[in-house]
Amino acid sequence: MTIEQLYQHYIKNRLIATDTRNILEGSIFFALKGEKFNANTFAADALGAGASLAVVDEEKYATDDRFILVEDVLQTLQDLARHHRKQLHIPVIGITGTNGKTTTKELLFAVLSQHYKTFATKGNLNNHIGVPLSLLSIDDSVEVAVIEMGANHQGEIAFLSEIAAPTHGLITNVGKAHLEGFGSFEGVKKTKGELYDYLKSHAGVLFIQGDNEHLTEMERQRNIDKVVRYGFSQSNAIVGRLELANPFLKITWQRNEGPRYTVDTQLTGSYNAENILAAAAVGAFLGVTDDEINRGISGYAPTNNRSQITKTAHNTVIADYYNANASSMAAALDNIAFIEAPQKAIILGDMFEMGEESFAEHQKLVVMANSIPVQRTIFVGKAFAEHQHEAAEFYKTTEEARKALLDQPIKDSTILLKASRGMAFEKLMECL
Ligand code: ATP
Ligand code: MG
Repeated sequence: MTIEQLYQHYIKNRLIATDTRNILEGSIFFALKGEKFNANTFAADALGAGASLAVVDEEKYATDDRFILVEDVLQTLQDLARHHRKQLHIPVIGITGTNGKTTTKELLFAVLSQHYKTFATKGNLNNHIGVPLSLLSIDDSVEVAVIEMGANHQGEIAFLSEIAAPTHGLITNVGKAHLEGFGSFEGVKKTKGELYDYLKSHAGVLFIQGDNEHLTEMERQRNIDKVVRYGFSQSNAIVGRLELANPFLKITWQRNEGPRYTVDTQLTGSYNAENILAAAAVGAFLGVTDDEINRGISGYAPTNNRSQITKTAHNTVIADYYNANASSMAAALDNIAFIEAPQKAIILGDMFEMGEESFAEHQKLVVMANSIPVQRTIFVGKAFAEHQHEAAEFYKTTEEARKALLDQPIKDSTILLKASRGMAFEKLMECL
């Protein structure tokens, strides 16, 4: 079956499934292979559960004409998504970057939705499977789409850009994350820069944090024509200022010489100011009115433990343990330092996938965290424990930290709780 033929099936009811547990009647099932599973073995079940077709890549499972035997199921999914994208004549905003992709995507969705029928990547479906699935859930009623693109190795953003064909793009920032896969910080810049390469060669529009020297250098190297700048200095087209972060951000923003607006947000973290400006810049460029932009921004409240403020019985917790890397840790520490509260505490857990730089980066954070005046500073994990000394508490595991917090609870404090996902810091949340 050709991609065009498969596409004809797809547009009948536009339902794709990769998991037999959530098959809707008439879905096309794609039997993907993972490290631990081979969905070819579930293809027959998928048909039993209501799928109309099952795309498989092992001949022995293709027992009748409801099975479509292809060379590679994943590639077929990607090809179908690429084909579908070509039929959609809408702007697609591609978002990548080290930190803040999902937050910026959600903010931009909130802004664009005030004016357009908008689609945005659900959750964090930003990889070689998530991007195709996201694209395939865009129907004809959608007027603009926001696609998050993640990467942990070189070439990945170029690959995802070819599928999503963004007409507009944004790199939130470049920092030290996934260094194992990228090789180095240069590798990170090269990979994220693949979005700029794509936009340049397809006459796309680039939105850039104009005060970020890495991004501006990447832009200069490529000599891109269509650029919209946002940031904090006057030279940007969208200029913002962070007025207050106690703990919620109040920002002001202005486009060119237009009126200056003040917006009360439901976000914390000074780093979110630039995510907000990014959403305002894209919205403004795409014809969203200023009032709609303000409404979109003030109405957005984060979920999923990304800088989420939770009031517990005893404390105010800035829950940010969805992920962590050197730059987002530093940003979170700046934020807790900036917040005015009678009592504060910092609890940091190990950052994963840091490669050779792990030792030095954990050490830097220990120094940085210890320079912030708070009532208690706690480090959790083996990587942090290598930098143990008297001025702070160190625990090798989350379980040990949990016991310590139960023995000696923190009360009436504003607490930063941040670590890589694998540290399972939700276990600490329970005793705060
Ligand atoms: P992932 O790689 O998991 O998809 P992401 O890039 O989508 O991550 P978010 O989920 O939006 O990022 O945010 C994760 C964390 O990154 C936030 O909770 C915050 O600590 C930090 N962060 C968000 N925006 C920025 C920013 N502009 N600069 C630095 N750190 C940021
Ligand atoms: Mg994300």
